[in-house]
Amino acid sequence: MEMNEKKRRQSMILYAIIACAILIAINSLFSPSRAANAPKEASYSEFIQMVNDNKVDDVILDTTSGEIQFTTGDGDNKESWTCTQFPGDDTLVQRLEDHGVTYSAVTQSSDDSSSLIFYMLLSYVLPIGLLLLAGWWLNRRLKKAMGGDGPSMTFGGGMGGMGGLGKSGAKVVNGEETGVTFKDVAGQDEAKESLAEIVSFLENPNRYAQIGAKLPHGALLVGPPGTGKTLLAKAVAGEAQVPFFSISGSEFVEMFVGRGAAKVRDLFKQANEKAPCIVFIDEIDTIGKKRGMSINSNDEREQTLNQLLTEMDGFDNHKGIVVLAATNQPDVLDPALLRPGRFDRRIPVELPDLAGRKAILKLHASDVKMEGHIDLDVIARSTPGASGADLANIINEAALRAVRMGRSRVTQEDLEESVEVVIAGEKRKSTVLSEHEKQVVSYHEIGHAIVAATRKEGAPVQKITIVPRTSGALGYTMQVEEDEHFLTTRQEAEDKIAVLCGGRAAEELIFNEMTTGAANDIEKATELARNMVTQYGMSDEFGMVALGQVRNRYLNDGSTLTCAEGTAQKIDDVVIEMIEKGHQEALSTLKANRFKLHELARYLQKKETITGQEFMDIFTRDDGFAPRRSDGSTAK
Ligand code: ADP
Ligand code: MG
Ligand code: ZN
Repeated sequence: MEMNEKKRRQSMILYAIIACAILIAINSLFSPSRAANAPKEASYSEFIQMVNDNKVDDVILDTTSGEIQFTTGDGDNKESWTCTQFPGDDTLVQRLEDHGVTYSAVTQSSDDSSSLIFYMLLSYVLPIGLLLLAGWWLNRRLKKAMGGDGPSMTFGGGMGGMGGLGKSGAKVVNGEETGVTFKDVAGQDEAKESLAEIVSFLENPNRYAQIGAKLPHGALLVGPPGTGKTLLAKAVAGEAQVPFFSISGSEFVEMFVGRGAAKVRDLFKQANEKAPCIVFIDEIDTIGKKRGMSINSNDEREQTLNQLLTEMDGFDNHKGIVVLAATNQPDVLDPALLRPGRFDRRIPVELPDLAGRKAILKLHASDVKMEGHIDLDVIARSTPGASGADLANIINEAALRAVRMGRSRVTQEDLEESVEVVIAGEKRKSTVLSEHEKQVVSYHEIGHAIVAATRKEGAPVQKITIVPRTSGALGYTMQVEEDEHFLTTRQEAEDKIAVLCGGRAAEELIFNEMTTGAANDIEKATELARNMVTQYGMSDEFGMVALGQVRNRYLNDGSTLTCAEGTAQKIDDVVIEMIEKGHQEALSTLKANRFKLHELARYLQKKETITGQEFMDIFTRDDGFAPRRSDGSTAK
């Protein structure tokens, strides 16, 4: 959506530039004042002076406009002049005769006025006509370009090919052409199940009509970006072998008012002709926002939305038109869209779980050449929270890395490396840390790892590194859950806060100083503690009271407090207390394991990246400094 918005703005600017260029060009071509031998201007006194100096040859007095046209010099020096400020001088004729100047008088003839009209025509009407023409052409171009998938916009080259482009700009691709079936969608079994009925309906609408069963006009695919909503919609068309019309909500927000509604009308007209078919509206939230909710109420969007509602109510669904729409912000949609007979069926498309991630990795891995002993399970385990698109990207990054390394097959290392590229940001080779900085970062990361390793619950450490990432992190400690679980206990949450405090605690303990390196830890710990208090009911002070409201659970953009001012103050106090508790916990754990902290930090500083196994080997080695919990008991 942002992309299209940008495109539109760019093309508007381009349009304005072209418009100006045309105006200037035409005016300079036709305007008489700019012509090559345009007459110079002279004041009346200058003119008289020139007459007195015998410089003037030929004078034409225009009795209509009172303008004097005259020439001076001859041959190459010949110049034409005009003087428009004739003050009505009675002595002029006498003076001209005295100096032997030839003169004549004219009344502006009808000939001249028609040439004036011609000039007006050329310099004003023509450019405006051209501008309108250019605008129309550009607009058409723009619509075509935005109907396409490519991010680039070509003004010169044609955008042909790729299915028929209707007036609406909706892409028409035959069902067979989407080439996508449910086999291409890994995981998402529940979504596929819900959509199977729609497929069967599209394959044989009559069977449903005979019984009198009504299928929903539309279904809403709801889920975070990259989870395969578009893919699923295409797969429905592919499975049922029906045409697939797709359009993105952002395309509707057109340059000229009234266009969006016309587009919708068009789209459904086309769909009606090709039924049974799928109409897919991506990013429906861009047009389907609750009306009157946004600050700058957009008439255009409302018109488009109203047209969409009208069309959905109007079409005869015995013909087999199913409208699918996708969004990651279901809560901003206008309730009118969700009424029965419209998008009354909601199909959640969630982030994949461990099994789902493995299936998606396997599917995409089948497209690239890999070494025999690849363990996709490890990759799936280390990518909780990744979307299908992220996983597809990981496989592709791994393949790219293999090519860069001059190999013909993807290795396990390629995959593990690309997990970090995609999930944690690429290794930043250009950031060179000083030895002292490396030392501080080493202690910081080992601090996290030791606190993590001494918790009763909590995921084991998989990898520790002090190689900077493009994400800005100077190092990181990666923990991987043994089994995926969806519930976090209060103990686990408190442990997590202690682990997050472990980095800063190590810096304080060893160097007796603080660095900015803990900023991200602090942010995460604070957010977790705040959620424990306001959402999970995990504080003794407040108990089971919801004190905040999650803004959008898909966009993960935090929550808004819904409590009194005084309560907010108390929440802050409790949050500070919880973090301080974690901080003290981390400090005492590290104090109890001071020797292991030194040994491991030195080891990490030397190796830069160590595995969880290496870490545990050193940490648990019984050399008189066995790992200790903060209470002094022996751990693990
Ligand atoms: P969305 O529309 O939900 O943002 P897309 O359907 O555009 O996501 O998915 C983007 C890409 O991610 C797909 O083209 C596909 O390569 C990959 N992908 C996402 N989910 C899956 C899945 N469940 N199975 C296979 N590939 C997937
Ligand atoms: Mg999509
Ligand atoms: Zn840290």
